[in-house]
Amino acid sequence: MIHLDGIHKTYQGAQPLHVLKGISLDIKKGEFVSIMGASGSGKSTLLNILGILDNYDEGEYLLNGVLMKNLSETKAADYRNRMIGFIFQSFNLIPFKNAMENVALPLYYQGVSRRKRNALALEYLERLGLKEWAHHLPSELSGGQKQRVAIARAIITHPQIILADEPTGALDSKTSEEVMQLLRDLNEKEGMTIVVVTHESGVAYRTHKVIHIKDGIIGKIEENKTMEGQPYLK
Ligand code: ADP
Ligand code: MG
Repeated sequence: MIHLDGIHKTYQGAQPLHVLKGISLDIKKGEFVSIMGASGSGKSTLLNILGILDNYDEGEYLLNGVLMKNLSETKAADYRNRMIGFIFQSFNLIPFKNAMENVALPLYYQGVSRRKRNALALEYLERLGLKEWAHHLPSELSGGQKQRVAIARAIITHPQIILADEPTGALDSKTSEEVMQLLRDLNEKEGMTIVVVTHESGVAYRTHKVIHIKDGIIGKIEENKTMEGQPYLK
């Protein structure tokens, strides 16, 4: 599904910064993987490229066999809206819209009528245990509730891929566990391909495969085992 070959990225500026130094990576449909590395190692940069939010300088990124390079902003937005759901550490909810409206937002961009998108948003909120919070503003929700709203928003369009940048970074450990369990359910029950970026090994080891990144280069790749000691991936 995702194929990266020799990706390089340099941030231009007074002091150009070579952040990704030849990333090659394959992520198959249905995988639940983490990209783990220290702060500043290039994780968010890599995830933004995967999410077609940013360009790269060298190499190739194929998404379902299609080269993602030099796309027009319209084309990039079209791929994003159709294929990818995003989850961020800081939730990125719109502060003056209630939970239901936040969840419904991606459907607005798809031209779905207000009545339909609100009805569907309520369904997703209910599914994530937030039905009673539909008409509350983000500021009235706990961190875990905000992240569940963000997850509902990410999945309401049935994306093939979820990209999560430090999704538990702002949450306490119990809430982190719950969010990771939700992602795991989406992967196992709905077959969504999920990529989680994190600097926490406790989070990385809750996915099926850990891809280590250091100074813009991929290091070892570890396959995690289930509690029964079996490999997750065949
Ligand atoms: P991580 O997510 O692993 O912490 P990032 O990909 O965010 O790392 O950043 C990698 C390096 O690139 C850091 O040194 C960061 O300061 C720098 N960086 C990130 N975004 C930009 C940008 N838009 N312009 C310039 N430098 C950036
Ligand atoms: Mg980051």
